[in-house]
Amino acid sequence: MLDALSEKFEKILKKLRGSGVLTEQNIAEAMKEVRLALLEADVNFKIVKDFVERVGKKAVGQEVMQSLTPGHQVVKVVWDELRAMMGGEKAGLALSSAPPTVVMMVGLQGAGKTTTCGKLARFFKQQGRRVLLVAADPRRPAAGDQLASLGRDLQIDVHRQDQAGASQTDVVRICQDGVRRGTDQGFDVVVLDTGGRLHVDDELMGELVAVKAAVKPHEVLLVADAMTGQDAVNMATQFHERVGVTGIILTKVEGDARGGAVLSIRAVTGQPIKFLGVGEKLDALELFHPDRMASRILGMGDVLSLIEKAQETFTREQAEEAQKRLTSNTFTLEDFRAQLAQVNKLGSLDQILGMLPGGQKLRGAMEGQVPEREMKRVVAIIDSMTRRERRDHTLINGSRKKRIARGSGTNVMEVNRLIKQFLSARKLAKMLTGASGRRQLAQLLNSR
Ligand code: GDP
Repeated sequence: MLDALSEKFEKILKKLRGSGVLTEQNIAEAMKEVRLALLEADVNFKIVKDFVERVGKKAVGQEVMQSLTPGHQVVKVVWDELRAMMGGEKAGLALSSAPPTVVMMVGLQGAGKTTTCGKLARFFKQQGRRVLLVAADPRRPAAGDQLASLGRDLQIDVHRQDQAGASQTDVVRICQDGVRRGTDQGFDVVVLDTGGRLHVDDELMGELVAVKAAVKPHEVLLVADAMTGQDAVNMATQFHERVGVTGIILTKVEGDARGGAVLSIRAVTGQPIKFLGVGEKLDALELFHPDRMASRILGMGDVLSLIEKAQETFTREQAEEAQKRLTSNTFTLEDFRAQLAQVNKLGSLDQILGMLPGGQKLRGAMEGQVPEREMKRVVAIIDSMTRRERRDHTLINGSRKKRIARGSGTNVMEVNRLIKQFLSARKLAKMLTGASGRRQLAQLLNSR
């Protein structure tokens, strides 16, 4: 996510942080590089100009230049301005005190609108809300089928009335029917998956305006493909001018190295980004936090999001139980396997690294290696053991190792390596949780 941009920013800022004395000249040079990095990221040129001017002015201000750590202060200024550019505060969703809350989703075909309807429905369902999805594109049965299939996967109701050649009036009526059903049947949230086209056209806009006027949604969310950069921004501007939106969901952000849309769509349209789509799966939806995104871009990581994700994935009891076992001698290969499976749920290693400070560099260092594949081998090896072996690794002698290697399509060396890794993980955990271990760790960290 925004890797190319992030790498450039890290380099520029490292240079600034490194210089003991900051002069107007080296700030000016850095600003030139910042300007170039943002333009290469496909950020709207006017936004870039404003940004660089503001940062430049603040950076040569008294507060920064006379501080003890001017380099760091400049980084803070850049962080502040990036955050402001993306909207400052996190933008919440307007939930109605008189349910159902009606969310109208709009966007061009292929942007990921229907998938995002599913993701959003899942998001609300996880909060304990009852959600109704409405297929509001009656002319395209395929769109209805896709929504129905998402509904089945998520166990969420879908309201659907296909009608070939439906007029605008028909579409409006179908949406009204859906919202009425939401009200009558006590749903908390109704999500309308409206029709999309390949291009912005008058007919589509007319239909969306009519639906909006009839159902008076609490939110009109535009779904836009981040990979299309400035095209996404221009499209969002057109939708906002014609229909009026309350927020934006950018999709495919995980594959967007440049970040032009993420950085400038808010500043150009005036509408906040509310969520990011970061993958094809239904759980790949993140609330958008401008401050955390600014940190990610500057290579400071996004530990807060990682912690939140971990909290969603593990319960406190699970974590405490795991720690107890890990530090006693009862931690077995079976537990090791269970932990790997849970860590896997957090996301791919690549995604996790992307959220850690300096993770970008680690990722570079691992280039070419495929940790996921390694993880799968480890799991395959453990799965090829008998239950008794998993509970007591000391049983695993030479002939058993051969059998395990055959069963998992690996070799004895790999089985040996896994057992060694398991033992050192257990030893390390014990060391870290003991009082003297913690002291050692603290010394180690301080000495770096
Ligand atoms: P619609 O035509 O706007 O309704 O788009 P769809 O929901 O059918 O999505 C189009 C394609 O984009 C599908 O292949 C989706 O799986 C994919 N897609 C949607 N959101 C994301 C995302 O956040 N990341 C990635 N990688 N793919 C996505």
